[in-house]
Amino acid sequence: MTATLQSMLPLPSADAATLAAWPLAALAFALGACVGSFLNVCIHRLPEDESVVRPGSRCPRCRRDIAWYDNVPIASWAWLRARCRACGEPIAARYPLVEAATGTLAVLALARFGPGASALVAFGFTAALLLITCIDLDHLFIPDEVSLPGIAVGLGVSLLPEGIGIVDAALGALLGGGILWLVAWSYERSTGTEGMGLGDVKLLAMIGAFLGWQAVPAVLVIASVAGSLAGALVVFSAPGRRAARRVAQRLGVRALGPYLRRAARRTAIPFGPFLALGAALVLYVPALGLPWTPLAAG
Ligand SMILES: [Zn+2]
Repeated sequence: MTATLQSMLPLPSADAATLAAWPLAALAFALGACVGSFLNVCIHRLPEDESVVRPGSRCPRCRRDIAWYDNVPIASWAWLRARCRACGEPIAARYPLVEAATGTLAVLALARFGPGASALVAFGFTAALLLITCIDLDHLFIPDEVSLPGIAVGLGVSLLPEGIGIVDAALGALLGGGILWLVAWSYERSTGTEGMGLGDVKLLAMIGAFLGWQAVPAVLVIASVAGSLAGALVVFSAPGRRAARRVAQRLGVRALGPYLRRAARRTAIPFGPFLALGAALVLYVPALGLPWTPLAAG
């Protein structure tokens, strides 16, 4: 573990440097997990058009307020043995998983970019992708409340000294949104049914704004390959379908059930999670992007 972190962080291999990196990584994980706790609120409330600020955290079943000491990311879930203190209803494993995943995204951003604005941008971007992924899996739509401000933020941070520049960012938003809009438009024209939501169009525009136009083709290829593989796995294998349903139940991803049934009838599958996967891979594995991707140099 020490060796992995050491090789990931841009630090000399001295033991002192490794020791110095650990508290920072732990702090990043803790702060990231707190952001993850907020993402859990957003995952629950954004699709219902509820405020993500007020009221405070509540049990979704008994609606009772959750005290701060029962709301510590990851730890409280384990401490309460995955049950609401008031009503004893099970709390889905997805809550601590989202918190742990968001903490991991913070450590990844720190390891890849070092302390600074780039790491913050990378963390904010990947946390937004995680939020979009969870909501798309649950409800089969991508909330405009995340993707539209995401486009604006992506264009804004491109102007930072470490940023990719407004030209690459704006072209990224146009190319990303434009390609998928064209695909959606021609699919609808040729089949008469809506195959791809406009949410995917806005998501790829946001990804293009953050990563630059150079990253768009790689993101699309990764998303299409991964999406097709997952789709084939779900549609063609009954055991895979049963396993997916069990995983969905355990994680509390309610709407995966109808999605699996719909996927079996060969209708639209959520593309957002695969676009998010492609974006995260291009961000953290620069070799996957085109050689002239601005981030590859960073
Ligand atoms: Zn409760």
